[in-house]
Amino acid sequence: MKAEILAVGTEILLGDIVNTNSQYLAKRLADLGISVYHQSVVGDNPQRLLEAYRLAFSRADLVIATGGLGPTKDDLTKEVAFEYFGKQSVVHKPSLEIIENYFKFMNRPMVKSNVKQAYFPVDAVILPNNNGTAPGCIIEENGKMVALLPGPPREMKPMFEETVVPYLQKYQQGVLVSKVLRVIGVGESSAEELIEDILDNQSNPTVAPYAKDGEMIFRITAKANTQEQGVKLMEPMEAIIRSRLGSNIYGEGDTTLENVLGGMLIDKKLTISTAESCTGGMVATKLINYPGISSVFMDGAVTYSNEAKMSRLGVSKETLDKYGAVSSEVAAEMAQGIAKTAGTDIGISTTGIAGPDGGSDEKPVGLVYVGLYMKDEVKTKMFKLSGDRQKIRERATMQLLDWVRRELL
Ligand code: ATP
Repeated sequence: MKAEILAVGTEILLGDIVNTNSQYLAKRLADLGISVYHQSVVGDNPQRLLEAYRLAFSRADLVIATGGLGPTKDDLTKEVAFEYFGKQSVVHKPSLEIIENYFKFMNRPMVKSNVKQAYFPVDAVILPNNNGTAPGCIIEENGKMVALLPGPPREMKPMFEETVVPYLQKYQQGVLVSKVLRVIGVGESSAEELIEDILDNQSNPTVAPYAKDGEMIFRITAKANTQEQGVKLMEPMEAIIRSRLGSNIYGEGDTTLENVLGGMLIDKKLTISTAESCTGGMVATKLINYPGISSVFMDGAVTYSNEAKMSRLGVSKETLDKYGAVSSEVAAEMAQGIAKTAGTDIGISTTGIAGPDGGSDEKPVGLVYVGLYMKDEVKTKMFKLSGDRQKIRERATMQLLDWVRRELL
């Protein structure tokens, strides 16, 4: 199979952004044994985009296009591809629902133009986007196939790895076997640096690291004649990655941080309770996602006001007056307070400034203290988190759950 990569966007033509998508896809297609003889870049212009598809399909069976799936009028990658294949598009209801829910969750109004992102031909394979609003798609017709992926690399990479690679399996000889290692507490660039030598010299199996929902995914993929051979091939690679990343690897496959932590608490028969300020119940919600948590999760308090912190958790007025609600001292008293009142082995807490207002030079938006009471000892940690209000709250939640996991290892 011959493939061609098409990066769409005037920003790339003008040199405003570096075309890292094409670099990534070129490398991954080579890993998969798919030949790439041409790559091209085209601006957001419908005539030139149509010409680009015609040219690409005159010399390749598979075109992977990235960018231009957004809601605005100059995002045309999909529409022109549909035109090239002579396909009508209709609203794909499940995608529309996902987009609507995304806006509800982000607490942002959804404009009409976002509906455009849910339009696809009826026979297209829809590729869900877990990191943004634009779903991608695959269209196949008369031996020609186009995969349309979003522009932002953090959306494109997971979509490519999780949907396009398995889809291309049917064009491969033998089988493609994959294993996912989930990593937390290491940023994207540090994670890549840790295995730079592997990334530079890999053939079979390969490993693709990419960021997703505040964590890193390391996807190992082996090409083999049988499933068993593929699994065997991956073992030494997995062992090397595990030796480099150690306890930063919290799980495998489809698991989640809360599942891993929930399982650990139950195994160790340790009860837990939560006292939350800035995260407003997110920590408790995550823990309660884990089925079976009822045997260890006892109580979750959302103590947003100073009064609630004092009356519900026994935080002292002196501590609040002296250090302020967002402080290591208050996080400590909150964690200890909830553990004592709920009678649990562990008490955990959050207090921070999620923004957009309320920050100061001394205590900026994104400053979060978390507390952990366990075995008669209370500890705290401070984080300076980036992102909007929702992201700061989510990141604080993940940081705290990961800290508890590490303490229990
Ligand atoms: P969105 O749904 O976010 O609008 P999109 O699919 O319409 O995404 P574009 O609007 O084309 O994508 O690009 C969005 C951003 O993605 C760009 O500003 C750039 O940061 C990044 N991006 C786009 N194409 C590439 C590329 N080829 N390489 C690296 N980054 C890219």
